[in-house]
Parts: sequence; structure tokens; C-alpha cells
Amino acid sequence: MTTPESRHIACAHCGATNRVPSARLQDDPTCGRCGRALLDGHPVELTDANFDTVVGKTDLPVLVDFWAPWCGPCRMMAPAFEQAAGQLKGRALLAKVNSDDHPQLSARFGIRSIPTLVRLEGGQEVSRRSGALPGGQIVAMAS
Ligand SMILES: [Zn+2]
Repeated sequence: MTTPESRHIACAHCGATNRVPSARLQDDPTCGRCGRALLDGHPVELTDANFDTVVGKTDLPVLVDFWAPWCGPCRMMAPAFEQAAGQLKGRALLAKVNSDDHPQLSARFGIRSIPTLVRLEGGQEVSRRSGALPGGQIVAMAS
């Protein structure tokens, strides 16, 4: 498989689609419109407002963690998810959806238990796992 020379990365903050040279994906690229970080190695927060833009217009695998603040296993997994985001910086986008704040997204994906991780490519779901996963499995699922 050849590596494309650049990838489109949608900004989770303002929705602008940025073209980032593949060689620069791990160099903390910022958004050309709003100047905020595009891929800083931390999970991005997805909402009803930005979900389709970010997931549909980012040329990287996107791993979404459906979670809620009251969910013990979700909180337990959060540090491993954060760490995986750093490890996969520039190769995959890790994202979180607070299912309490965004029940419509949860309903759309038929989320029945949390945490549930859903991997999407080009806006299409390709795999999912329910239950808290250790860091290694999160990385394996996203990469
Ligand atoms: Zn932006």
C-alpha cells in the first residue's frame, strides 16, 4: 500500500478540513482556520455538532470511545485511552463521545453498554468492542 502524500484532517474545534502532509502528521499540526491543535496526541471531544464532520472528513482511522462520567469502567479505561492517543499520534484519531450529553449519537450507533469503542474509516463503522480494554488492545484496535 502506498502512503498518500497528504491527508485531510478535520478540525474538531471549528470544522475546517485541513490538508496535512503525511510527513508532518506527527509534528503537532494546527488548524489553518482557528489555529488550534489538529493532532496533539490527546483524544478529541466529539459532539452532535462536530461528529459527522470530524469522522467523515478525516483521512485517518477514528476510534470513538462512547462513555459517561458516572461509568466506573469508563473512568478506569480513560488513562489507557489517553495514553493510546499519544502512542498513535498522527496515525489514528482517538475521540470521546459523552453519551449522556449526546444520546442521539449513542442511539444512532445502537450503543447498549459503555464503554463501547467503535472504529470508523471514512465515516463507516468497521469494528466495535464493548467493555473496558487494556491499552494494548486499544492501540491494536485503532492502528
Ligand atoms: Zn479549526
